[in-house]
Amino acid sequence: MKKIFFYLLVISLLYAGCKKTVEVSAPIPPPSQISISPTSGATNAEITITGKNLTGATAVSFGGSPAASFTVLSATTITAKVGTGASGDVKVTTPTGTASIAGFKYLLPPPTIASVSPQNGTTNSTISITGTNFTGATAVTFGGVQATSFTVINETTITAVVGNGASGDIVVTTASGSAKIAGFTYQLPVATITSVNQKNGTANLTVILTGTNFTGATAVSFGGQPAASFTVANATTIYAEIGTGKSGDITVTTPAGLATYPGFVYFNPVVTTCKLQNTVNDNVVIGFSNRALRPATSGIVKIGVIFVDFNDAVATKTPKEIFDAHISPVAEDFYQSVSYGKLKIEFEPAFQWYRMSKAAASYVPFNTFAAHKTYIQEAISLANANVDFSKYSSVLVVNDPKNSPSDIGPAFQSNHPGNSIPVDGASIHNGVTSGRDMAFWPKGLWFCHEFGHNLGLPDLYAFTTPYHKYVGEFGLMGTQGGKSPEPFGWERWILGWINDNQVVCQGNVGNGAVTLTPIESVGGVKILTIPIDNKATIVVESRRGIGFDKNLIKEGPLVYLVDASIRTGNGPLKVLPLNEADQTKYQATMSIAQTITYQGISITYTAKTENGDVITFEKK
Ligand SMILES: [Zn+2]
Repeated sequence: MKKIFFYLLVISLLYAGCKKTVEVSAPIPPPSQISISPTSGATNAEITITGKNLTGATAVSFGGSPAASFTVLSATTITAKVGTGASGDVKVTTPTGTASIAGFKYLLPPPTIASVSPQNGTTNSTISITGTNFTGATAVTFGGVQATSFTVINETTITAVVGNGASGDIVVTTASGSAKIAGFTYQLPVATITSVNQKNGTANLTVILTGTNFTGATAVSFGGQPAASFTVANATTIYAEIGTGKSGDITVTTPAGLATYPGFVYFNPVVTTCKLQNTVNDNVVIGFSNRALRPATSGIVKIGVIFVDFNDAVATKTPKEIFDAHISPVAEDFYQSVSYGKLKIEFEPAFQWYRMSKAAASYVPFNTFAAHKTYIQEAISLANANVDFSKYSSVLVVNDPKNSPSDIGPAFQSNHPGNSIPVDGASIHNGVTSGRDMAFWPKGLWFCHEFGHNLGLPDLYAFTTPYHKYVGEFGLMGTQGGKSPEPFGWERWILGWINDNQVVCQGNVGNGAVTLTPIESVGGVKILTIPIDNKATIVVESRRGIGFDKNLIKEGPLVYLVDASIRTGNGPLKVLPLNEADQTKYQATMSIAQTITYQGISITYTAKTENGDVITFEKK
């Protein structure tokens, strides 16, 4: 009996023990089937994770970055806060395993701005912005105006360069939003004058100022005297016309303050003593004189063109072939260029050959006024049925240079109306007739020389040998075949292409300095003139290898003597230093530091600048 009870007890205990062992060792399955809501969030956003077997979770991560915290609500639900997360998988780890789900998107938090330094600035100032969550910033504005540039130094610091800003908020924008801070003050930028095209001038001459922040300029002055007028072309360029100035600073006033440029020299306006009056009773003169019968030197000047041949000297080409080969459009271009756009000559060619009535040789030579006039008068008569001559300031009579009766093609000017050619109710006072030499000179320039006589300019070559002793190859009236055919500045002044305010006139004893802009370019001070007496003057101009002077041998100032009492062909204008043996004058332009002295007047070449030649001068 006792033995049976013992066995029953053992079996009972075994049974109980077996049952207890089974309950303790049964494993919890690993977590699975998780999902997340919402699927994106920034740091500290709460994400709900649902799934199976989440009990006892030991870790939650977002994109590999641990959650800031999490709470296991049940075996099927965890709430977790995003840490300094990243996009990627969300993972839940329990003692028995890990479950993951892809597709979590980490959102950067919106930025905040704590402070800026400094709190004011102008265009191109650098401003440091301190705050949070700047990573990936896409824009920075000052008062609503985009920064010129900005750099995200790190998550909490941006440096930004102010653009053409305005006062107001500073705003930083990232993909997650914008932050702003009030109180930025935009200061208008201060103007500067960095250069001027010339540091000297007189009333009504236009000076070009180059600098910065000119926009909104309210005043320009020269030596403290207001400019006569000025135009702000853009933020870096002002065109200012000198008023009744003084020497001193050039200033530009803008809302931000005053910009100054030192060293402006004001010249008194040209005095009449510098305008040498012609004392020669010719129709071509180097002085200022009455040019009543000469063509206008500005505006549109129309020139009638007649083509003639002879029974015994028949033309070999068409009129148009000859016109295109020897005259146009070089002649038009030349006068447009050397007059700085003031004179526009327009040819009106009657493209047919008119046959003259007599043998060719009977018309030449053209060396008397009467013979020349007779020839032109017959050509006009032949064409008159087809042409209205009343609109022409000059008439050009062309024959075939291969079959011309004349060696040379001279100009015709009458000196009083009684000597002119009456036609169509008007009078022709000026003409040019061609000869064989039209084909000898560079295209167009034969006519330009002769038409220069129509305009009243004298011959600058010598009528006696050596022929080029006076001006060499300078100036069209010296030779049509020279390296530098652009007219002298003095010639342009007497024709009105250079204005009085482009001339510096040193009438009295004294000294000074002047920058002369190249005679071949538009604008600026063009000549310095220092009279010797009431007939003669020293003139200085700057020559450059540009325009029709493109073949100029040596750039620099050219000094010459003008004498209004000397007749055409006798040296009314002579290049200095005088050297009759030098028939080219290629080296006559001055070298730096060279001084030319004539009759107590000294000219020194001080410097060559981008804008011209700087000259110092003294009159004793
Ligand atoms: Zn001539």
